[in-house]
Amino acid sequence: MTSARPDVLLIGAGVSGLTTAVRLAEEGMRVRVRARARPELTTSAAAGAIWDPIYASHRLVPRWSARAYDVFRDMVLAGRPEVRLVHGIEASRTPIPSPGWAHDLPGFRECDPGELPAGFVSGWHYTAPIIAMPPYLAYLERRLVAAGGTLEIAEVRSLRETPAPVVVNCSGIGARELVPDPEVEPIRGQLVAVRNPGVTDFFAEHTAELDEMTYLLPQGEILLLGGSAEKGQFDPQPDLTVAKGIIERCAGIVPAIATAPVLGHRTGIRPNRPEIRLEHEDLGGQQVVHNYGHSGAGVSLSWGCADSVLELVRAVI
Ligand SMILES: Cc1cc2nc3c(=O)[nH]c(=O)nc-3n(C[C@H](O)[C@H](O)[C@H](O)COP(=O)(O)OP(=O)(O)OC[C@H]3O[C@@H](n4cnc5c(N)ncnc54)[C@H](O)[C@@H]3O)c2cc1C
Repeated sequence: MTSARPDVLLIGAGVSGLTTAVRLAEEGMRVRVRARARPELTTSAAAGAIWDPIYASHRLVPRWSARAYDVFRDMVLAGRPEVRLVHGIEASRTPIPSPGWAHDLPGFRECDPGELPAGFVSGWHYTAPIIAMPPYLAYLERRLVAAGGTLEIAEVRSLRETPAPVVVNCSGIGARELVPDPEVEPIRGQLVAVRNPGVTDFFAEHTAELDEMTYLLPQGEILLLGGSAEKGQFDPQPDLTVAKGIIERCAGIVPAIATAPVLGHRTGIRPNRPEIRLEHEDLGGQQVVHNYGHSGAGVSLSWGCADSVLELVRAVI
């Protein structure tokens, strides 16, 4: 299998790449994944990661996010330890109506004013999947290998220099140079992991676009605190001043966070784009299917986008 010419060369081993690779391989395609960075070193590994379909643009976001919600829910029902269904509140500092996508979710109801932290004026409850990304990506890699796929760590310098009839491009921020596509721009994000002082519900700030949102995502013994959105920043080093601000804002919601031991810091470069690029391109005979530009919602859309890539690959293979 590994030496045979693959049907698909898939670039990228973040959540977009691995999910898509699993989807194609489990449909019987021979899939070779090639990535500059291993899964645990990608932006995807840094994500919180709560299902929340708002921080990416495309007309199919409702369909893609609904599909991913269902897959994550089914993983919880099947006992997968990397995914949890968590109840919580999403809230805004400005008066806004609850978004339509939230209304059909389990546990949805509008917040009473007394349920909102200081500074927040609208909010709603719902239940959402939260994914522990490093072990989840490891699970996807194992599932890919079990389906006959392979992962190799290497740079791809051109979408044309490939050994497969179809290339699937899930290169995240790497698409900026690889395609090249100047519409993909970095928005750096940072989280702080603390020992969970007993938080069981999530809290997520809702903003009109990616911004310095405040959020708390419980993952058992670990509580992830967010966040930041630094446009134009590629530097992967955690900024301790940003981390201090995150802890202070989160402690404004749950005071015990102020003294919770810090376990670590996470940073990632969100591949921001005015619209997700998921389409087929014929590059002088080399068939390419792009799947990048998921900005702040790549986890939340992953399984839906993988379905759309499968349809496009089937059409050209
Ligand atoms: C702090 C933070 C919190 C977030 N929270 C959430 C959340 O709660 N929910 C949510 O849905 N999303 C969240 N996101 C967004 C989410 O992480 C991204 O949308 C998602 O990770 C993008 O995944 P990707 O697979 O497209 O890109 P990446 O994870 O960046 O993977 C890209 C892959 O392509 C490879 N690559 C790039 N260029 C090349 C090349 N030339 N040759 C070979 N390989 C290449 C890389 O090495 C890597 O393997 C968050 C992001 C951050 C930073």
